[in-house]
Amino acid sequence: MAKINPDFAKELKEYGALDLNACYNCGTCTAVCSLSDEDNSFPRKMIRLSVLGLEDELQSSVDPWLCYYCGECSETCPQQTNPGELMMSLRRYLTSKYDWTGLARKLYTSKVWEFGTILFLAAVILVLFIFFHGPMTTVLTADGGVQLNTFAPWKQIEIGDWIMAGLLSFFLLTNIFNMYLKIVKSDKSLKIPIKIYFTELWKPIFHAATQWQFSKCDQHESNKSINFSTYWIIHFLLMTSYALMLIIIVVFLGWFQTDNIYEWWHPQRILGYYCTFGLTVGLIYFAYSRIKKNQEKSKYSHITDWTFLVLLFLTTITGILVHIFRIYGMPYATYYIYVIHIMILFPMLMIEVPFSKWSHLAYRPVAIYFSNVVNAARKQSK
Ligand code: SF4
Ligand code: SF4
Repeated sequence: MAKINPDFAKELKEYGALDLNACYNCGTCTAVCSLSDEDNSFPRKMIRLSVLGLEDELQSSVDPWLCYYCGECSETCPQQTNPGELMMSLRRYLTSKYDWTGLARKLYTSKVWEFGTILFLAAVILVLFIFFHGPMTTVLTADGGVQLNTFAPWKQIEIGDWIMAGLLSFFLLTNIFNMYLKIVKSDKSLKIPIKIYFTELWKPIFHAATQWQFSKCDQHESNKSINFSTYWIIHFLLMTSYALMLIIIVVFLGWFQTDNIYEWWHPQRILGYYCTFGLTVGLIYFAYSRIKKNQEKSKYSHITDWTFLVLLFLTTITGILVHIFRIYGMPYATYYIYVIHIMILFPMLMIEVPFSKWSHLAYRPVAIYFSNVVNAARKQSK
């Protein structure tokens, strides 16, 4: 028998959902959604499950991850129930349910936990620098730059990066395993041939790289709130810059954090400038649209949306300052801003990648994969 949580709609409000009871089940939202189909019919079904408090059904559903929040359904809902925001809230809710540590729920529902965790992790970095930093020197390199690696040797920093990457991977992968149990293994009667896991594998990689599903949202002429091409390009820029920066600091730090000052066209600088450009453009675009509320999807902002943007902004700006101070030979400014940069970068990655906003970069393609595996197995068993 299905378990019912009568307080679910109230609890979901902590994740950002608006007034679900206003919905009178007309189905307009599902009719206009370009991504809803026979196999995965949303958002109306998600609204009904939420209103009824059927948590097990919600947790075994991939539908919230198939929504790209184009806002079409919210624009056309006659009751202003905001189904697009409901889907977003369900993604936050599901993120907290996949997370076995319970931290994602605390970060999403408590400002004290959110800001307390950021401050705690920043303090850990500060203490590590106080005790383990190398000598500060005002002697500049032959090309007039600061000797950053005497103060913060890249080999030491790299060990810290590897520990961090190990923790991020551990939390993310164990949470994805939980997602697998909830989505794929919830239907005990469904037999999934091993072959299907392999034949469906290319799709999540393709979707993660191209955001292909999102391009289908462009089909309705009535949806004027968002320029899809611009959004896709900026999202792509932000996503690739962020991912590239993560790969550089974890895998290629020795190549990236040098005391040499290369010409501007050197690949080290070009890549750094690409990441800086992508992050800056993305940040300006998303912060502007949240402030102006000029798109359906940016009309409601959860506190964690802003925390993420602010942390990413501070990380980017301090990263730019480290670069400027280093190449213009300003030792103390370089050293202090470098410490501040890591004090912001570390909490941002530890919070956002496995527990919050950026986990969707992993969850969405994996959910599409699980959904395809389940649908293919069902079709084969008919
Ligand atoms: S959310 Fe709005 S459009 Fe969707 S079923 Fe409810 S009232 Fe209709
Ligand atoms: S926001 Fe767009 S993709 Fe998501 S459910 Fe609504 S119409 Fe579909």
